[in-house]
Amino acid sequence: MTGKQWRNPAVKRALVCVILLNMPVRSAASPHAPHQAPGSRLSDNARVRAALDWFASNISWVNDQQVRLTEIPAPPFQEAPRAAAVKELLAEAGLSVQIDRAGNVIGELRGANEKEIVVLAAHLDTVFPPGTDVNVHRSGNRMDGPGISDNGTGLAALLALARAVQFARLKTQRTILFVADVGEEGEGNLRGMRAIVEAYRAKLKAAVVLDGSGTDHVTTKALASRRLEALITGPGGHSWSDFGMPNPINALVRGAVRFINTKVPASPRTTFNIGQVEGGTSVNSIPHEARLKVDIRSESEDELARLESALRECIAAGVRDEMESARDRSKGKLEWKVELLGSRPGGELPADSALLAALRAADEFVGNQSRIERSSTDANIPLSLGIEAISIGAGGSGGGAHSLQEWYDAAGREAGLKRALLTLLGVSGVAEEKSR
Ligand SMILES: [Zn+2]
Repeated sequence: MTGKQWRNPAVKRALVCVILLNMPVRSAASPHAPHQAPGSRLSDNARVRAALDWFASNISWVNDQQVRLTEIPAPPFQEAPRAAAVKELLAEAGLSVQIDRAGNVIGELRGANEKEIVVLAAHLDTVFPPGTDVNVHRSGNRMDGPGISDNGTGLAALLALARAVQFARLKTQRTILFVADVGEEGEGNLRGMRAIVEAYRAKLKAAVVLDGSGTDHVTTKALASRRLEALITGPGGHSWSDFGMPNPINALVRGAVRFINTKVPASPRTTFNIGQVEGGTSVNSIPHEARLKVDIRSESEDELARLESALRECIAAGVRDEMESARDRSKGKLEWKVELLGSRPGGELPADSALLAALRAADEFVGNQSRIERSSTDANIPLSLGIEAISIGAGGSGGGAHSLQEWYDAAGREAGLKRALLTLLGVSGVAEEKSR
């Protein structure tokens, strides 16, 4: 932090709020409490308390929105109908809302200091293809349906926090953007969050991502991953009359066997998966094409780069082996290429960051304990650029993510909403009121 930032009174006030939030929140009841003036803690602010109290009386509204949004299909690259519904709901909460060119819904709550922004984001998209039955079956707190938890929970929490803040007429220091973003899942390649970070990078101070259910974890470490496709092509021919010609599937298999024998370290944890193999037209034809999709992940960008070059070398070697053993090379040779389908950069939130301190203080307020996790989420993008970011569940419990058996149980949701709100306000800061 530079001295220049400290001289900015708005920054200073925001920092004071963050620091105060970090003080033990249960200190009032503790005999060992540090001496502090009443009202100095975030949760002692009357408007913050009003916002926190909003959740208890509106849980059924939050549950209803979660079901309603989950029942609007949002396959990858087809998030627009769900985005339109979220836009309407954020506008009803009193925010000024727009949809950007990527398809992200952005609701702005202007802070006292408009030069600094905190993003609260939940992804709109699901992994489910068009035509999937996304109707939700409800029974008490329990809801069953594809996408109900990932990310129905995050979206419902995004709306709940926007409403609670507006209900309490909370004025924050930093501007908050309530974002429902596209392209988190699969080949969406985090394009929604990339667009947000690109648009607001100069002002963006922190990002809190709401993804799925629970309060058991906080993702502060971004798992780097790459998705690659290897393609081998050749002339193709007849299985009997052209026998001995180079065969792209043979080459692919030769290369793949080499690749799966690549040694990867247990630490930093590094993984690879051949997820799809395609090629050929019939059993009695020498194929003219073969392709393979590979997902590689690592705690280390270096290992990731090493594994990517290993794939290229192995495919090249597979092609070479196949060409060398071919009896008839007169009808053409094999071509190959390895293409990057997607890349999620890695990164890590420093242990002494203001955002993590805000989360820890919020955990303490709701009596929660959470463990640090490494995962691949929307937080990867800001983290890779050195911008503070976390991804957390939005309360309640859930399971079966990415399956048709996905479920959510809203019991305990309130603690998750309070935890998210206090974390958000911890980094945005609450503006001082002139008179109270
Ligand atoms: Zn998700």
